Amino acid sequence: MTNLAIQIKGLTKIYPPDNRAVDTLDLEIKEGEIMALLGPNGAGKSTTIRAASTLCGFDEGNVVVAGFDVDTHSLEVRQAIGVVAQQTGIDYFLTGRENMMLQGHLYRMKKSDINNRITELASYFELDGSIDNLVSTYSGGMRRKLDIACALIHRPKVLFLDEPTLGLDIKNRKILWKHIDKLNKEFGLTILLTTHYLEEADNLSHQVAIINNGKVQVVDTPDALKNSIHGDSITVTFDDVGKNEQAFFHFAQQQSYIKGATWEDNKLHLYVEDGGANVAALMAVAADNKAQITNLSLSRPTLDDVFLKYTGSSISDTKEEEGDEWWKQWAGKGGNTGKWKSQWGANDSDAEEDGEDQAWKNSDWAKNSDHSENLGAQKREEAQSQQSAWPSEQQQWPDKEESHNASGEQGSQQWDQSQQGDWKNNEWNKNKDGGEK
Ligand code: ADP
Repeated sequence: MTNLAIQIKGLTKIYPPDNRAVDTLDLEIKEGEIMALLGPNGAGKSTTIRAASTLCGFDEGNVVVAGFDVDTHSLEVRQAIGVVAQQTGIDYFLTGRENMMLQGHLYRMKKSDINNRITELASYFELDGSIDNLVSTYSGGMRRKLDIACALIHRPKVLFLDEPTLGLDIKNRKILWKHIDKLNKEFGLTILLTTHYLEEADNLSHQVAIINNGKVQVVDTPDALKNSIHGDSITVTFDDVGKNEQAFFHFAQQQSYIKGATWEDNKLHLYVEDGGANVAALMAVAADNKAQITNLSLSRPTLDDVFLKYTGSSISDTKEEEGDEWWKQWAGKGGNTGKWKSQWGANDSDAEEDGEDQAWKNSDWAKNSDHSENLGAQKREEAQSQQSAWPSEQQQWPDKEESHNASGEQGSQQWDQSQQGDWKNNEWNKNKDGGEK
């Protein structure tokens, strides 16, 4: 029998005054499996990871990780897990090696063991050539690899990755997928990750759990989830949803080839038996009712259709929280006007890593950077003296509460839900087959 690496029963976390961020959530992850948690912003994914990795307490439920109860054996859990949070824990003014060394010492590992492990991990993540460079010279993809390497220094059995590829361009994302997949296949590491990228969940994970409003809505393999959507997917977009469009919806649902339907604002997602053959008949229903269709697309169901079914919105409509560019730490809240931004922040998007790197590499400081440890220390001193000259309020991170309020995520989610008219909430919003697993 396969053992469970993570067992979560009835997990409930309430943020004051009464935000049930996670609500009686159950989840089981077998040893050696990769599970992806998918869900809209504010669904409770990060809170679940924080609770399971001992980073926050919780109000109710039981969580057992690697055979240890996180409530009673948190130290043992910490020894058995590695965590890569959304906000990177690495220090830009240390070299890659120094960061890993620091992490190894925090786990009280022997120096020789740390050194061996650094050599192993640097080679594994193809960082050997840059391990003695300051992290501030690394590209976004390299920083993320270093982050994961640091989390693996003490040979954990379970790895938590919170949005591991957030903000990376597709090339770097794929490189990281390769490494994550290898960690699982070659070392049998159990991995629980959260992601916004359906392709990531589809490619990497054995199981996908869709979370909404703090609860698990469904768990299954990516293929089983896609197969649970019967028929082809036809998405009909209207400029405006008026009387004619509602009449079209009414008559469409009476056609025998329609297997299910879900509204998403002005888009109607129809699940249609033999879509190619029946699309003309569907268009005829639209013409009879004078419905103004602005776009129609036909495809095989994807994980996005599954996501839509269980959360009421496409993941593409879920705004991605942006990863922070590294200079924003010192550039003041929002980070758009500080000296670091103007010096190095040529591009605002981390997806344009090359631009960011280029801007950084062109700076005088980077041009002078050297691989020797002494020079690393000298650069650090320079940086620290610059840092201490900045106004102290600009050195602060916005706290979590503030960033949540500022992002208005919770608000926008409630708004979305209240926008669903009654006519959208009828039985036809559910799959006609009722084929939930
Ligand atoms: P996700 O990772 O799915 O985006 P989170 O777990 O970050 O969701 O958040 C779930 C809910 O808990 C949200 O409503 C969020 O605003 C709230 N929340 C998360 N962290 C905190 C915190 N430290 N203090 C107060 N509320 C929080």
